Amino acid sequence: MKIAATIIEDSSVTCDRCRASCCRLEVMLISETGVPEKYIQRDEWGGGVMARLEDGWCAALDRDTMLCTIYENRPFICGDFAAGSYECLEEHEPR
Ligand code: SF4
Ligand code: SF4
Repeated sequence: MKIAATIIEDSSVTCDRCRASCCRLEVMLISETGVPEKYIQRDEWGGGVMARLEDGWCAALDRDTMLCTIYENRPFICGDFAAGSYECLEEHEPR
């Protein structure tokens, strides 16, 4: 699961030099941010996570740029997952 993180451990790490590896983690939707329904996978109780494709990457990721296509409406957890944080460094894959 992609979890919230805010403490920066390595400020030299940036998303534009990463293969968006954290976008293969499960992203729970814990608040409404305007994510288009086509990118949401819902369970029988209405709870939602970001849909992922067969290779595991989030359905909202642009595969050419490896950038988020819904950046302004990305889930709260994605916005709080800071580059260079401990959790980021666990996933980070330079490209
Ligand atoms: S793993 Fe870290 S550097 Fe890579 S996209 Fe996610 S937050 Fe950015
Ligand atoms: S919504 Fe955007 S930032 Fe969040 S996992 Fe998907 S592509 Fe990555």
